[in-house]
Amino acid sequence: MADIIYTYKNQVYANITNKCDCACTFCIRNQKDAIGEAQSLWHKVNPTVDEIKAAIDAFDFTGYDEFVFCGYGEPTCALDTLLEIAAYIKKNYGLKIRVNTNGLGNLYNKKNIIPEMAKVVDSVSISLNAPTAEEYNKVTRPQFENAYEAMLEFAKEANDSFSHTQLTIVDVLSKEAQEMCQKVADSIGVHLRIRKFSSQ
Ligand code: SF4
Repeated sequence: MADIIYTYKNQVYANITNKCDCACTFCIRNQKDAIGEAQSLWHKVNPTVDEIKAAIDAFDFTGYDEFVFCGYGEPTCALDTLLEIAAYIKKNYGLKIRVNTNGLGNLYNKKNIIPEMAKVVDSVSISLNAPTAEEYNKVTRPQFENAYEAMLEFAKEANDSFSHTQLTIVDVLSKEAQEMCQKVADSIGVHLRIRKFSSQ
């Protein structure tokens, strides 16, 4: 059975779905079956809310102050589960909630999901990945047209709705591309975090 809750570099993560609306060329899922302390992050069937709650209740959260939705899939592709579990964590464990997302949740769910998320989520980290729509489409291969524009729109609104919002890129991008990404982030007033590449 795949890990639902796992740890990696002193953070605790939830792997609630393997669904994703992108097919990123760099996706870690194509390289290995797990990261951090997890054994496998591939679910045979995506876990139910009750299964996730049971995994949460079996986990010792001592020393952790944040719970991160991430895993081998896009958390907003399981929006109802995400919202219910985030509320459960807040109520029972009092942890801050972060969602690592591709920022396409409004397109996938065909509605603005930010107001609902903002009730139970404290921060979002959105993958910017590239400085232009053309580059973005090449590397993330999203299911939707205008995904890049929608992702930026999501980031902009998220910035007004969550305690913390950031866009992320990885430092494998050229210096020039990183600077262009910084300008994109600045243009919508969202913090850009440049992550160090890690094969883990
Ligand atoms: S959005 Fe995330 S999970 Fe989906 S393909 Fe890209 S890197 Fe993988």
